[in-house]
Amino acid sequence: MAVKLPIYMDNAATTRTDPRAVEAMLPYFTEKFGNSASRNHKFGWEGEDAVDLAREQAAALIGASPKEIVWTSGSTESNNLAIKGAARMYAKGPEGTKNRGHIIAAAHEHKAVLDPCKRLQNEGFDVTFLQPPADGVITRAMVAEAMRDDTILVSIMWGNNEIGTINEVPEIGALCHERGAIFHTDATQWVGKMPTDVERDHIDLMSWSGHKMYGPKGVGALYVRRRNPRVRLEAIQDGGGHERGMRSGTLNVTGIVGFGKACELAMHEMETERERLLGLRRKLERELSSRLEVVQVNGHAERRLPHILNISFGYVEGESLLMGIKDIACSSGSACTSASLEPSYVLKSLGVGDELAHSSLRLSLGRWSTEEEVDYAVDAIVKAVNHLRTMSPLWDLYKEGIDVSKIEWQTH
Ligand SMILES: *Cc1c(COP(=O)(O)O)cnc(C)c1O
Repeated sequence: MAVKLPIYMDNAATTRTDPRAVEAMLPYFTEKFGNSASRNHKFGWEGEDAVDLAREQAAALIGASPKEIVWTSGSTESNNLAIKGAARMYAKGPEGTKNRGHIIAAAHEHKAVLDPCKRLQNEGFDVTFLQPPADGVITRAMVAEAMRDDTILVSIMWGNNEIGTINEVPEIGALCHERGAIFHTDATQWVGKMPTDVERDHIDLMSWSGHKMYGPKGVGALYVRRRNPRVRLEAIQDGGGHERGMRSGTLNVTGIVGFGKACELAMHEMETERERLLGLRRKLERELSSRLEVVQVNGHAERRLPHILNISFGYVEGESLLMGIKDIACSSGSACTSASLEPSYVLKSLGVGDELAHSSLRLSLGRWSTEEEVDYAVDAIVKAVNHLRTMSPLWDLYKEGIDVSKIEWQTH
């Protein structure tokens, strides 16, 4: 079977919306267009019923009660509401004072967690950013060591979006509950792909997003625990008091319907999909590692999400590598900032050197990825890397057994 080009291997950035979710959404653009907050006519009731159903579908996927779901515009907003909302609600000192409380997060979290934490730092909160070890996994022991008597909030993501590593979330949740700290997890890459139960896993606040799990963009959810303990949040956006006052604004009924459908589909298809993606990812990893020398898989070998592979290729230049595999839509280990290409801060935090970080690829698979696509991608990458190396003087030196890192370059 011929593959259709370009091949999409960037499912960690966003996914195609499942046509079954689109189908569920369509009536809510046109016939059933009511505002779910309109209490006195059929249009409003239809909207409300649709939102209620989606709330049940979302809650069922994570073992929560429907009342514990707060609709947002996506994980960025969910993370902001969870982190700023909880910190400000449970702050120990008045605004503008020092020692408002201690927060723990990891240094390789998504920016949507790091930046709210940094803002809280400016407000006087004390934030510890845990440095991950080389395998990228944050453990219960690391959090326990950083925990203090005034720790009010811990935010540790479940699966990392760049390297796919899985942190010890249930164990960290249990620790937080023992120590009386609120526990938030950014589960954007986890929910819908891996079994989740907020009770078993000791989670107080959890963010996830529609467009990372075959739902539409611009809609997300925040799980907010209601008992043992009851978690309260200070709202960021004020207005009509929607979502129990935590998130005002007319609900995105259409998006929420698609989100709910995506949750229902994930619940039924998770097991088989997980096995399938794991098989494909392992093949990708195995073939690239066996057909090429000097490659490095970034992150823990086993504790990784089924759909993400992050791999570095020594002695090739990152930009040239991307140019050489134009038919494969994926991400690189470089982040475009305004002026220059910066190596990924996630890879850097693991101790990956700048050169290897630049020459790394994040290949992320999804519901429509096929074995033919994996085979095609492997061939294309092997070919591109080999081609670039034939033109590389450093590669020649390496092949002659000279340790390139020990060469003292002349700089005039
Ligand atoms: C994509 C992503 C986000 C941001 O989600 P949006 O819904 O696009 O705002 C946050 N955290 C992680 C881990 C992600 O992968």
